[in-house]
Amino acid sequence: MFEKSIKELAEGLRQGEFSSQELTKAYLDRIDQYNGNLNAYITVAHEQALADARAADEKIAAGPANIWTGIPFAHKDIFCTEGLLTSCGSKMLSNFVPPYDATVATNFKQAGAVCLGKANMDEFAMGGSNENSFYGPAINPWSTDTSLVPGGSSGGSAVAVAARLAPAATGTDTGGSIRQPAAFCGLTGLKPTYGRVSRYGMVAFASSLDQGGPMARSAEDAAAMLQVMAGYDAKDSTSVKQAVPNYSMHLNQDLKGLRIGLPVEYFNKHLNAAMQKVLEDAIKLFEARGAVCKEISLPHTELAVPAYYVIAPAEASANLSRFDGVRYGYRCDDPQDLMDMYMRSRSEGFGTEVKRRIMVGAYALSAGYYDAYYRKAQQVRRLIKNDFMTAFETVDVILGPTTPSPAFGLGEKGDDPVQMYLEDIYTISANLAGLPALSAPAGTIDGLPVGMQLIGNYFDEARLLAIAHQFQAETNWHTQAPKTELTGL
Ligand code: GLN
Repeated sequence: MFEKSIKELAEGLRQGEFSSQELTKAYLDRIDQYNGNLNAYITVAHEQALADARAADEKIAAGPANIWTGIPFAHKDIFCTEGLLTSCGSKMLSNFVPPYDATVATNFKQAGAVCLGKANMDEFAMGGSNENSFYGPAINPWSTDTSLVPGGSSGGSAVAVAARLAPAATGTDTGGSIRQPAAFCGLTGLKPTYGRVSRYGMVAFASSLDQGGPMARSAEDAAAMLQVMAGYDAKDSTSVKQAVPNYSMHLNQDLKGLRIGLPVEYFNKHLNAAMQKVLEDAIKLFEARGAVCKEISLPHTELAVPAYYVIAPAEASANLSRFDGVRYGYRCDDPQDLMDMYMRSRSEGFGTEVKRRIMVGAYALSAGYYDAYYRKAQQVRRLIKNDFMTAFETVDVILGPTTPSPAFGLGEKGDDPVQMYLEDIYTISANLAGLPALSAPAGTIDGLPVGMQLIGNYFDEARLLAIAHQFQAETNWHTQAPKTELTGL
């Protein structure tokens, strides 16, 4: 049951092989048994999940239902879920039970899916290791001797799916937070085009970059998830009015003649030799299928990290000003006056990295510095976008690594924020440009999964999923499970 795809689970439910209640119960049992090791979930919605499963069983018995009806999944704890704690990995929201659902949450509900609970994450999605969570880090299920990070910020979602504590999970990606944990945990993760998935009810980090997307065990499952998540939403002013294709139907589109660009700035001396080998093997496979690879240049690549780490904190400093202890969220004890309440609620409610970003962002936006930092970073952002537009004149898709290396150790980069930021070197550009990008498992290094990244042109999600799907038809990296003590698999 734990190895079945979404489609197979849906068939199993329809054929009465198992009920949604049995399926949900089986997942809840695994969560009860292994979440203590892995810390994948902040909240497990035992009762609600079983009630939803019961309703789904009735719907299926009554006649034709959505493919998602009765299928369990997990939400990153950044999506507002009515009546269910939505902490965003922060002490600031550790008491926040939203009175409404995010559009993405509504979509899954309407499809009849069963939410198992809310997945761990870096506080306010700021981080790349899950170590910034107020609830402690999620643990990479591939860890053996030492504990490895699952990546972040959607680390709990990745761990839940990789450790078979959920068939699939939602994530969000502002600078790599779907793709990097997907790479570290052996999953397929997709950051859609900016505007493809509604941001309504998704706690805001950097609004011009944030985008929700699927984290799944295969491209086929990711396609099924994106189908539910994508679409125009009047409640999000940046949502795009464009028809949503049938992603599952496009999975077998022919790769013959596909033009793949290999950026010289990704394949250079900084790329780990083992990672280079993994990617070369993938490239060979695509060439054997009739794809044509060619070198391209994205000349402003090295400016992506510095530009992002001005723009994202600037937007975060504005977004997070709403957490003032007044309307909702954490409030300090015994405030002496209004100023004391603001100051102590924010000092006590936010963690170190979040405070660092607020300070950096406020500084970059302040009078006298705005032009030197924020405006300059926005100009660099345009250059990065232009690099991609030039590249897409001659190629259909861009291939490279998702991360510089496989999962690193817990605590290894904790003391040096810049080291942590540099982890995002390959993922951030797609967010700055608003492009869709996918990570799929492409091999292992010392037994640990690593990902290849595919960056597409705007709204080309179907093509990215098709490329990954056909890669997965000929390889089995994506079917490997972390058979460690932590998971009992
Ligand atoms: N690691 C990046 C950061 O810390 C990306 C986070 C994200 O995509 N949410 O900002």
